Amino acid sequence: MNNIMEVKFSAKSENESLARVIVASFAAKLDPTLDELADIKTAVSEAVTNSIIHGYDEDDSKFVYLRCEINKSTIKVVVEDRGHGIEDISMAMQPLYTSKPELERSGMGFTVMESFMDDVTVSSIKDEGTKVVMTK
Ligand code: ATP
Ligand code: MG
Repeated sequence: MNNIMEVKFSAKSENESLARVIVASFAAKLDPTLDELADIKTAVSEAVTNSIIHGYDEDDSKFVYLRCEINKSTIKVVVEDRGHGIEDISMAMQPLYTSKPELERSGMGFTVMESFMDDVTVSSIKDEGTKVVMTK
């Protein structure tokens, strides 16, 4: 049987830890190892940070949408924003690519998500927003 959870929160950096905790407690049903849980939390942080920093340029009047679904032994996490969007997704996902070097970003967020989760799919429309779907 599958189990679904959805939450919407302000695009504030303090809500990154909230998102991590929410997903971790939802994922607890799967009886994950501590390592698996840490991986999921890190991937969630990266995606949420991207929505706040890149999607919304830290405009905290905007919202980040988080959805999780457990199906058998798999968890799917969806992080979505209605922000700037990504023009070239394959370029954005290259290791070390960042559009904000001035903020000392390292361009490793997507690489981290891909290494910690089993599958990461990004869809985005310029000026409409970005959706990151991750499964483990
Ligand atoms: P780091 O995550 O290491 O701090 P970064 O955020 O720049 O640096 P990635 O997370 O890999 O690196 O993202 C790469 C690039 O993709 C970003 O610099 C940004 O241009 C674009 N991007 C990622 N997520 C979004 C988003 N939600 N909305 C708009 N652009 C995004
Ligand atoms: Mg990032």
